[in-house]
This record gives sequence, structure tokens and C-alpha cells, in this order.
Amino acid sequence: MTKILVISDLHQGTSITPPAGIRVVTQDRLIENLIARSHDAILIAGDFQDYMWNEGKSTKSVSLVKKRIESDPVISTLNNADSPVYFVWGNTDIMDCEKETTETPLTDELRGWFTTEFSNFNDCHKQIHQMSDFTIIGYQDANKTDIYSSGKCWEETAIHKELRPIIEKLSNEQKKQLIILTHTPPRGILDFSSLGSRHIGSFYLREIIDDFQPKVSVFGHVHYLGGYTKYCGRTQCINVSSFGLAVSHDILFGQSAFEILLDSKSEEISTSMIVPHYWEDKKKHAFVEYRSCQGCGRYAPFARRQFKYCRICLGSRRIQNQETASKV
Ligand SMILES: [Zn+2]
Ligand SMILES: [Zn+2]
Repeated sequence: MTKILVISDLHQGTSITPPAGIRVVTQDRLIENLIARSHDAILIAGDFQDYMWNEGKSTKSVSLVKKRIESDPVISTLNNADSPVYFVWGNTDIMDCEKETTETPLTDELRGWFTTEFSNFNDCHKQIHQMSDFTIIGYQDANKTDIYSSGKCWEETAIHKELRPIIEKLSNEQKKQLIILTHTPPRGILDFSSLGSRHIGSFYLREIIDDFQPKVSVFGHVHYLGGYTKYCGRTQCINVSSFGLAVSHDILFGQSAFEILLDSKSEEISTSMIVPHYWEDKKKHAFVEYRSCQGCGRYAPFARRQFKYCRICLGSRRIQNQETASKV
């Protein structure tokens, strides 16, 4: 049995304004608490921090981004973890989405520097990693959509041309035990964005999931549906985004995290959501609770006690929760 911690979109935890009197646990402490549960591997689906994006935008300075990475406590905590980290970069790390210049802070050179400097991190972008009986392959950054349109976010054909052929060449056993790690979700699977009120996942990633039916598909990027899982045929799909964003009709703060138990000889996958302590004090605070949705029955995160419907119901059926964020 292999126990894996999956997290993503750590960047949202740093920019939130907590309610008065509540101190937010720093992101590195949060990660420390999570990794203390000891795992065989840690999977991260991108969007580590916003500084690469921000610094790069204002200064376009690679050396400044390097300095920020070197002094980032989250990166060093993960680098010192007992279990290896497998990751892909997200669009806020890559800094290409909104880019109007030719220089990008996270160039291939910088990516190379990072994995040499931080040896516990295994970059999965178009690279196969064997982790016990399981094969991990990833694809970084996000697909181009009308929400994320400019810069170097990839065209759909890129993942089709670059990821699919690598998977095709795997042995049948590797395909069966495959974990696909991407920042962006597959189209139609936990990819409903509150920003544009539409699905924004990748069509060709979905085709890969449909055709190869990997064991697990881990992704983030669409914060609205962080903390949800869904089967797509045989494939357990997991959206592990953080909930740092204020979204249309409710607000959630926190980091979603999952522990998955995999056995190469069994089709059964145990997926459990961990709710890390996000607030410094132990006061009961209605920022997120997990319970059954009155619409679909699924076990889901809720921002308020009085909310009846989970985000998937809200998104797909246009149901309004009775209380709105503005009343808080
Ligand atoms: Zn994100
Ligand atoms: Zn993202």
C-alpha cells in the first residue's frame, strides 16, 4: 500500500484577509502539519506562490525570483520533507499567462536550476518518474481559455502533441498504474470556474483520461472546486486547489489536501480529505466544514453552516444559497 499526500495552489493561502481576531497559520506551518503525517510521496499540482508572477511582472528579474525562491519557507519545508515531492509548475509560477514581454522568470533554465538546487523536488513536466509500482507523468501551466488567454498558456494541441505520445509509449502495466499530475483539470471534470461561470479544463487532457484511464488524475487551478473528487470511468480525479478565493456566492478559506492509498494489485483507491488547521487559534470558526450536500448527497466542503448546496450543485443547477457572502 502506498500513501500519497496531494496538495496544490498553495499561493492562495498567503493573500487572504482573515476575519477580525483570527490569525492565519503560515503556509509553511500548514505544510509542516501535513507532512508530519508521513507519506511515501507528496504530489503538488502547481501554483506555489504568486511572487514569481508579481516580481516577474514588475522587474522581470530572474535573480530576484531566484532569491525569493531560496528564502521561501514553504519551498524549504518541502525540500526537507522525508518523502519525495513530485510536482508541476502552475500558471502563477510560470508567469506566462499575462506576459506581454519576451522574458519569463520561470524559463527552462530556471526550472533546471530549481531542481538542482532543491533536490527533493522532482519536476514531472513531460517527465516520467517511477514511484514504487506507480508511474507519474505531468504537464505544467494552464490551457488557454477566454479567462486565461494571453501569453504562453498552452494551446490545446500542445498537450496532445507533447503528453499523449509519452503515455502511448508506456507499457500496459505502467498505463494501468499511471498517475497524471497537471495544473489544469480535464475538461468537464471539477473544472467549473466561478470567474467565468463555465468549464475551463483541457479538452485533450480529458481525451487522454478517457482513452488511457489512468489510475489517478490530480490537478488544481480551478479553486472553486478544490476539495472535490470524481470518478471518470476507472480514473479517480482529484481537484486539490486551495480555497483562498472569494467566489460569487460563498467564501471558503483554507487548503484542501487529500491522502490517497494506492495498491497496484487492487482497483480500490482510498481517498480521504484532510482538513488542516488553518487558523492559529482553536476557536470554532465557520470557514469550512465538510458534510453531505442536500442537493447531490456528496461529502463536500461548505463555507457556512446554513448553506445547503455544494459548489457543484450551485454551479451546475444555478441554485442560490440562502445566505450570501455579503451578509457575513
Ligand atoms: Zn491557483
Ligand atoms: Zn492556476
